[in-house]
Parts: sequence; C-alpha cells; structure tokens
Amino acid sequence: MQAIIIDKDNDGYRSRLTTVPDGELPDGDVTVAIEYSTLNYKDALAITGSSPVVRTFPMIPGVDLAGTVAESSSPDYLVGDRVLVTGHGLGETHWGGLAQKARVPSDWLIEIPKPLTSSQAMGIGTAGFTAMLCVLALEDAGLRPGDGEIVVTGASGGVGGAAVSLLAGAGFDVVAATGRTEQADYLTTLGAAGVMDRAELSEPGKPLGKERWAGAVDTVGSHTLANVCATTRYGGTVTACGLAQGMDFPATVAPFILRGVTLKGIESVYCPPARRKLAWDRLASDFEPAHLELMTTEVGLSETIEQASTLLAGNVRGRITVDVNR
Ligand code: NDP
Repeated sequence: MQAIIIDKDNDGYRSRLTTVPDGELPDGDVTVAIEYSTLNYKDALAITGSSPVVRTFPMIPGVDLAGTVAESSSPDYLVGDRVLVTGHGLGETHWGGLAQKARVPSDWLIEIPKPLTSSQAMGIGTAGFTAMLCVLALEDAGLRPGDGEIVVTGASGGVGGAAVSLLAGAGFDVVAATGRTEQADYLTTLGAAGVMDRAELSEPGKPLGKERWAGAVDTVGSHTLANVCATTRYGGTVTACGLAQGMDFPATVAPFILRGVTLKGIESVYCPPARRKLAWDRLASDFEPAHLELMTTEVGLSETIEQASTLLAGNVRGRITVDVNR
C-alpha cells in the first residue's frame, strides 16, 4: 500500500510518500480499505515535525480515515461496511489514515451515517466533529438561539468554519473572528451574521472588558481566549478546543469569579462512544452539504506533505480532504 511515513532517527525527522507492505500494519481486528483521509492542524504539525505529535516511529500520520471494511474478525463489522475513525491516537501512537489501508480495534469504528459519502465524512472529520462537540457543550450549558452573539475564533480554519455553519444553522447569531478579512464573503455564506478582525482579540488585554458574547467557540487559545473570556457576558460559556495562536492562557480569574463565566474544555480524541455517536448523528443531519462543499479542498496523497506547510502557514481555507488512492 502507499502511505506517508514519518521517521525520526540519526538522519533527522522526515516525512515521505512510500510503499509499505500490508504485513506491517499494526494489530487490530478490522482492516479498512481507506478511501479518504484529511489533513488536520495536528497532522500538519506531525508531518512537518513542528510539534511532538508523533509518539512512536515509524508512524503513518492522519488522525482521520473513512472507507470500507476489507477484513474483519469482529462480530460487529462485515466486509464492505462503510466506516470512519477519528482520533483514538491515530497518527500519534497508532498508524493513521494517510495511507491506503489501516488496521484498528473495532471499537474505534463508527458507521458512516447514511446520507454521508466517505468524502463528505472526511470533509467533516476531526475538525467538524470537534466543532459539533463545541455546539453540544454550548447547548448543554443552556444557550439557545436569541440569547445573544456567539463568537467563533479561527473562523476561516477547519474547526472554525464548521462551527460557524453549525451554529448559524441552529439559529444562533454568529460573529466570525478571522485574520483573513478577505474571507468575509465566505464566512457570511457559511452563516456568520458578522465578521471581525482577529486583531481585536489577539493582543494582551484587560482582565475584564465590555460584556458582549453569550458564548464562544475558541480554536486559537492564548491572548484570544483570554480576551474572549474577558468580554463574555454574565453567565456565558466559552468552549476552548484549540491553540493556533498559542498554548498559553494569559488570563485572570476575573471573568469566572465576577461574571460566572464557564470555560469548557473540548477534547475529541478520546471522546466517549455515546457522545461520539450523538455528535456524528447531529453532523449527518445538520451539516449543510453546500457549506461542506464550499469549505473543502481535495488533494491526492502525493500532495499531502506539501499541503502541511501551507496549512501551518494559515493559508488553507476550511478543510483539506485526501483521496488516498491518487
Ligand atoms: P486550521 O489550521 O484549519 O485553522 C486554524 C485557524 O486559526 C486558522 O485558519 C486561522 O484562522 C487561525 N489562526 C492561525 N494562526 C493564528 C494566530 N497566530 N493567531 C490567531 N489565530 C490564528 O486548524 P483546525 O481548525 O483544524 O484546528 C484549530 C485548532 O483546534 C488547532 O489548534 C487544533 O490543534 C485544535 N483542535 C483541537 C481538537 C481537540 O480535540 N481539542 C480537535 C481538532 C483541532 P483565521 O485565518 O480565520 O484567523
């Protein structure tokens, strides 16, 4: 099979497209013939070696995969079933989706919900799944359409674009924060009622600012997350899932102890099965197919390494899906 392989040894850290014997696939009771994978922020970090994402070498990156079951010794899956996997250490501790095959434990698999093709499922991928986990968390916190503005940071990225579309589709009043204001038309097509320059949020700010947001989806961390918390209304909820600006959180406790703001962490990799199923069912029914198409650019496996640097440079809009068979 063809695969991207990451090696780290005396010759350094390197990623290449190569042929890997099927016999080297890791343990698992299901082998998947992959049709599509994706390029997420984490995959780009792994491929370029910009951050220590990969825990064992050699590694096939790719935190997402979708395809059909090719071999199964699990009673739960038959050859030909349409399945997807996101997270669970794919591309970090277990060979991932940027290959033509994967072998995984069957309890990592999710049936691709009926209306979605494997390409659409990967257009959603970890980014869309994470965005839906943010939406569910805001709803669980009691937020309803009409409660006020919800800010989405990193809006031109994968998680951000999905969050804009899903929240707007659910009737929320969404403000998209982006460094690429030339993408304003794209963001309003996804449903944003307003677009703001991310520079308004990304510099060091005050412990508390004017109350504006009823809720937030933050994909960038650092000063942006601190400023979002500082400008969230009394009793509002901020979901934090990303670190595109930085892993630091230079904030004070003021928004939490003086305004009762809730900061809710969102984690997609080890999300429990019931929540995973709920999120995918909602994604299948709620994600507007036209938005998904607008957000997605498809590349072949051979183009993936080059695309990783482009993504980290912040020059990719939305999502990249990877057709692993070209
Ligand atoms: P993308 O690269 O697609 O999007 C990130 C976006 O962040 C960019 O498009 C850009 O948006 C914005 N951004 C980039 N650099 C900066 C900066 N220096 N300051 C402020 N904003 C910046 O990544 P994803 O959407 O796939 O992922 C977003 C984040 O979420 C990543 O940190 C990723 O690791 C994390 N993540 C976490 C998950 C979890 O389980 N918690 C799961 C999936 C992702 P714009 O141009 O609009 O400003």
